[in-house]
Amino acid sequence: MRKFWSPAFQDLRPYVAGEQLAIPDLIKLNTNENPYPPSPAALAAIRTAANADLRLYPDPEGLALRRALAKRHGLSTDQIFVGNGSDEVLALAFLALLRQPRPILFPDITYSFYPVYCQLYGIGYINPPVDADYRIRTEDYRHDNGGIVLAHPNAPTGRALELPNLRALLEYNTGSAVIVDEAYVDFGADSVVSWIREFPQLLVIQTLSKSRALAGLRVGFAFGDSNLIEALRTAKDSFNSYPLDRLALAGAVAAIEDEPYFERMRHHVMESRTRLTRGLEQMGFAVIPSHANFVFATHPRYDAAKLQAELRQRNVLVRHFAKPRIDQHLRISVGTDTECDILLARLSEILGESAVSR
Ligand SMILES: *Cc1c(COP(=O)(O)O)cnc(C)c1O
Repeated sequence: MRKFWSPAFQDLRPYVAGEQLAIPDLIKLNTNENPYPPSPAALAAIRTAANADLRLYPDPEGLALRRALAKRHGLSTDQIFVGNGSDEVLALAFLALLRQPRPILFPDITYSFYPVYCQLYGIGYINPPVDADYRIRTEDYRHDNGGIVLAHPNAPTGRALELPNLRALLEYNTGSAVIVDEAYVDFGADSVVSWIREFPQLLVIQTLSKSRALAGLRVGFAFGDSNLIEALRTAKDSFNSYPLDRLALAGAVAAIEDEPYFERMRHHVMESRTRLTRGLEQMGFAVIPSHANFVFATHPRYDAAKLQAELRQRNVLVRHFAKPRIDQHLRISVGTDTECDILLARLSEILGESAVSR
């Protein structure tokens, strides 16, 4: 019994984020951060916004940011919600849309925050398994549900959804909200943001954390029919009216408007991903084709947990999930080419040692 804690919190198991260690020369490939700096225009805007106006509350509606996003996507501002990272947007969406009498559906292998929100809010859920190749089988989602959550591309596999399958699911599943988490979509998958005009049950969530290299600024957003957006706003205003501060709003607008920098950087990451994949395959790893800024790899002869521990000894962090079906995989964020080369060099040293065999 944890004294003074609310009863529902007695056995809540919170999400465990990847380690954030402050060790010099650490090669940090464990939390899918972008290896490149944010847009210089975004940094300049943040500096400019660091002025005496900070004594004032920020715009609770984040209108300037919603206008910038509306312009980029050809939408109206009432189809856009902004929040403190997409984790917060997801938390509000689970609260406002998915607390239904019927269980919600999301895959057995996906972002491990989803079951945490379910536990927090008391939402029942069913996990249709991904297939042997870690593909989401959208046909398994065709039964009665209180909502559906799919990551596109999925985490931690990096696999993107087949869009015709997703469209068929949306045409079938018209009675509950369908959330598509596009945290990694800019690394080579096709976004379904434009589909929100056709499907009033579709909410698409994105973030500046990965493709815009602003994980430290905490900005995420949702696109959907104004009815869904109003539900999110109702949840936000029952919780925190000002989730985005003045610096975050200023930096986010500038980051969204700096399209050329965004294009250059995301292509860099995609090219490095191809190179990293090839390097891992040459060492005998099987690598799932990735549309994200990480790869998910397994070696037929070497144990993933041991490899992760040995890499850590050598100052290289990658992510290992001690979970059924994926405990022999490593999730490796795409770093700079130099960082990826160091990872590959360390791995090749380690693979020579029998202690890491399965
Ligand atoms: C990183 C990530 C998020 C959270 O991103 P923030 O905007 O930094 O909160 C959401 N969903 C998935 C699948 C992610 O990998």
